[in-house]
Amino acid sequence: MADIDARLANRILFGLVAGAVAGAIVLALGSRVPALLAGAQWLSTTLFDPLGQVFLRMLFFVVIPLVFASLANGVLQLGELTHLGPLAGRTFTLFFANMLIAVSLGLVMMNALQPGGRLDDETSTRLVQEYSGQAQKHVETSAARPGISPASVVDMFMPRNLFGAFVGNQRNVLGDVLPLILFAILVGAAGLGLPKERRDRLHHGLETVSELMTGIVRFALRLAPYAVPAMIFSVIVKVGFDIIVALGLFVVGCLFMLLLHLFGTMSLWLRYLAKRSPAQFFRDIKDVLITAFSTSSSSATLPAALAVARGRLGISPSTAGFVLPLGATMNMSGTALYEGCVVLFVAQVFGIHLDFAQQLTLVFLSVLSAVAVASIPGGSLPLIAGLLVAFGIPPEGIGIILGVDRILDMTRTMTNVGADLVTAAIVDSRQGAAALGTSPGS
Ligand code: ASP
Repeated sequence: MADIDARLANRILFGLVAGAVAGAIVLALGSRVPALLAGAQWLSTTLFDPLGQVFLRMLFFVVIPLVFASLANGVLQLGELTHLGPLAGRTFTLFFANMLIAVSLGLVMMNALQPGGRLDDETSTRLVQEYSGQAQKHVETSAARPGISPASVVDMFMPRNLFGAFVGNQRNVLGDVLPLILFAILVGAAGLGLPKERRDRLHHGLETVSELMTGIVRFALRLAPYAVPAMIFSVIVKVGFDIIVALGLFVVGCLFMLLLHLFGTMSLWLRYLAKRSPAQFFRDIKDVLITAFSTSSSSATLPAALAVARGRLGISPSTAGFVLPLGATMNMSGTALYEGCVVLFVAQVFGIHLDFAQQLTLVFLSVLSAVAVASIPGGSLPLIAGLLVAFGIPPEGIGIILGVDRILDMTRTMTNVGADLVTAAIVDSRQGAAALGTSPGS
């Protein structure tokens, strides 16, 4: 499995810190020697960004086959179709509870801090202008999305052309993952009806696909100690201190709540619902969190999450294979929290008051839209533009936060992935012996 060995994990962590420190030094010196900063930004665009992309895309290569094989195998390993209902029921209930709590936390913080009210007009106008090009792209992508209706939900899960859906589009470089999820569950469920011998063969075939994908992830991970510092360095020299200072209160508020949800709410869940030690759990998943932080992509982190769940966490393969691919695409508490925060923040900047009922609507819309977010860097931005429109806020206002988005993306992805693993641990602890360990081969 692609469990990151301790030495490699330390090298990646070291790279992360080294890249961040180097970026901060260049930024600090850059205020006196602008040519140095300009050179570092040029180097980042020309060399470091492509290196980061090689690493990320190698991970994206494996996502579609890996999601398919692990989900179909997860269902197949349930042994009986009747076990699917309770497993899915628990999983989805936890997903929604997790996201609801997260957005509520975010909104409480934004109401308490009121960071948008404290941003001066000049800075917000400057930011909207500076990021207007990028903002426009997200606004256009969001406008291309149909609104939520029964017909659009059917289209979302069951497109006319299944394979067409896997082909990347402007919205999601990974293609639409929801139809893939449904198809994989159907394949697993249909597989349960096969005679034992053929079911075993299907199980081994899917296992082989997972192992092959994991092999590719291992290649990618060898690149990580170089790609991760390159990516972090690039983010830091491009973001700059100014914008972080200008948006300081918003950034600190979001970061605080993202970490509180990950290490606070999730610790309570671990202790009371999964009956596990939170400290030990977070030690076990440290490498997965580092991968999420450095890639800003739940999908790219999926192979590491699967490996750690089945390995160090001892979660049954059927639960891990079912919950984690679903979680990587649908269970985004960090993203939901962030979406709520951005909408409220931008509303405050434009002096638009959202009353209690509107904020309640915002909670539900943030959860629903987080489910549809692509698990790639910046995947939530088009959805946020759509949410702004829904509340009568100028969608170009998203430009105000684009400069700091990547830093918050790293943290919210960590929260997304951490909560997936916690959910898998809880579901596993409740699944009961009947549904577990009944792999077709056993
Ligand atoms: N980058 C996030 C993820 O992959 C999605 C987002 O919020 O942009 O989990």
